[in-house]
Amino acid sequence: MKTIDIIIPCHNEAEVFPKLRERLVDLAEKNPAYAWEFIFVNDGSRDKTLEKIKDFAGSDGRVKYLNFSRNFGKETAMLAGLDYADGDAAVIIDADLQDPPELIPEMVKIWGTGVDDVYARRKSRAGESVMKKWTSAVYYNVLQMMTRVPIQADTGDFRLLSRRCVLALRQVRERNRNMKAIFSWVGYKKQEITYDRDKRAAGKTNFNYVKLINLAIDGITSFTTAPLRIATVVGALITLFAFIWIVRVVIRTWLFGPDVAGYPSLMSAILLLGGVQLLSLGVIGEYVGRIFIETKNRPLYFIEESNIKRANEKD
Ligand code: UDP
Ligand code: MG
Repeated sequence: MKTIDIIIPCHNEAEVFPKLRERLVDLAEKNPAYAWEFIFVNDGSRDKTLEKIKDFAGSDGRVKYLNFSRNFGKETAMLAGLDYADGDAAVIIDADLQDPPELIPEMVKIWGTGVDDVYARRKSRAGESVMKKWTSAVYYNVLQMMTRVPIQADTGDFRLLSRRCVLALRQVRERNRNMKAIFSWVGYKKQEITYDRDKRAAGKTNFNYVKLINLAIDGITSFTTAPLRIATVVGALITLFAFIWIVRVVIRTWLFGPDVAGYPSLMSAILLLGGVQLLSLGVIGEYVGRIFIETKNRPLYFIEESNIKRANEKD
């Protein structure tokens, strides 16, 4: 029998937890052809989430949990879940039931045909403001323009991953994480299914605009050095223009004399210096960007308490 791990990052989800528990148990009961395992990652909740998870674990052997030492963010919580998911496939799902667990059997079916990453694409998004939908559409477009790796639009983290996809994702351990970008980056065979995104079943959202903007910037900078390249190119163009300008000024001054005393030399100097400065900033930026990418090797998270152990883990 194949095992499927359901990874559920939770941050202050006590309110929705009873409903979540019910839906998960229901899913497992209706699909007895697979062995189900639930991996809860408690990401520094300040409410009763951990108690509720432990209570569930106490009465159900399929429940595993990791309790983070503090809030590390959803991106890291998902990675921790993947680190501990040792089944044949893993599903990542939000705790707030915005992603219906009832969709999972369909994902499993597609996985059976040899697809590695079955991701759910939102047909509609209930309970999200026009502004949020619009900013998210713009973000996908900008990200897609800057990279050759195809980015799936209208897709969240709700997806089923094959074993080899999980193993690949585990190896991507950069600090500024944006899972959406990483899912695309690892490649493998992907297929979408569409669904209507529900409203949050209870509780309130953990994301505000500041968090979303940070996530968006991480997505771009961890993915591509295109913004740095832009500085380099603009700097080079200005420098080139400055040279042409200087030649023009020299010839004009030589033929007709200066228009205003000091102006030609001043203008040339400003242009040339500006261009050269921007160019060198761009070059330095390219290197800093590389150093930045390379030096991120702190541990990504700490676990305060858990009922699972990894094969290679010591006490
Ligand atoms: N989440 C998390 N850590 C955080 C923020 C959120 O693990 O720091 C989890 C949260 O519990 C939920 C999922 O990430 O399972 C999505 O969060 P939320 O529903 O608040 O975001 P939204 O759907 O509003 O974008
Ligand atoms: Mg949500």
